Amino acid sequence: MKRALVCGAGGFIGMHLVKKLRGLGYWVRGVDIKRHEWSPDGADQFLQLDLRVEANCGAALTVEGGTFDEVYQLAADMGGMGFIHSAETEIMHNSALINIYMTDQAARLGVPRYFFSSSVCVYRDMQPGEPEMTEAEAVPAHPDNEYGWEKLYSERIAEAYERRYGMQVRIARFQNCYGPEGTWTGGREKAPAAMCRKIAEIDDGGTIDVWGDGSAVRSYTYVSDMVDGIYALTHSELHGAVNIGCPQYVTVDELAVAAAKVAGKRIAIRHVDGPVGVHSRNFSNARIYSLGWTAQVDLEAGLARTYPWIDAQVKAARAASR
Ligand code: NAD
Repeated sequence: MKRALVCGAGGFIGMHLVKKLRGLGYWVRGVDIKRHEWSPDGADQFLQLDLRVEANCGAALTVEGGTFDEVYQLAADMGGMGFIHSAETEIMHNSALINIYMTDQAARLGVPRYFFSSSVCVYRDMQPGEPEMTEAEAVPAHPDNEYGWEKLYSERIAEAYERRYGMQVRIARFQNCYGPEGTWTGGREKAPAAMCRKIAEIDDGGTIDVWGDGSAVRSYTYVSDMVDGIYALTHSELHGAVNIGCPQYVTVDELAVAAAKVAGKRIAIRHVDGPVGVHSRNFSNARIYSLGWTAQVDLEAGLARTYPWIDAQVKAARAASR
């Protein structure tokens, strides 16, 4: 039986990945600084560890008889635009420490295959209508935020260790990812979850606040597609960073309208000041497509699976506060 370690298994994508790997017959250890809120027993074994501490990275990676066949590193101090703009030092400090120690320990302990979750935040700002950007065009680098700079640095750490130690490193740059069992409130939620929550909180015909003028362009990848992409990439021979994303690009206002349609509510949008991030995104998926991967779940279908889950969380939170 193959053994996999998933770091960040207390989080959104990490736990979905744990479930996929177990479904494929792996024995999976999950590690995180906190337990997963909705699937606390999702892994075969869970270790609660702070991966900013070098010794904890060694402990996470050590298993009876040696180390793991595959390591998936998704732990990060992370959140949506609101968090990214208000927690620059935490992101630069905490996520860098996790990646410095995890990569070093994994290489020294002889992990054969190491996956690292990067982000399309490594790219510069783009304007609507610009042609697709390839992975190589991330340099010369000009990320819009410190989260992107940390990811770029950590990509380079992983690549340096691959050169020195021969550990097979696979790096994905995720587009925005969404789905059930993701952060939906509290300040770290990302745009699709925030939009679903705001719509769940209002009555039919109500108004939701949208940060900025609503014209920023993004693509959103449903979580089952993302974990399929992670698995395909990890088992491929593709070296260097690989974009993973759904090719359906929409404005933030279009995202709100799509979520309202799924909710069956008429909404008005009020544009308010708030952190927006880059103007636009448009990335080449040619590398991940070369593995036969394509996104299977479009935005409407993904929201139809996500909105009911967030609506249920909103209702449960209301009931608990009464
Ligand atoms: P998440 O916040 O749900 O999961 C990250 C997990 O890392 C959390 O459970 C958190 O507790 C854990 N963590 C943080 N500090 C830790 C520490 N010191 N020790 C141990 N664990 C720690 O985020 P996610 O959406 O599941 O993202 C997973 C990965 O994918 C992250 O690296 C993120 O940067 C990357 N990513 C996500 C998206 C997205 O849209 N969700 C987009 C691009 C990249």
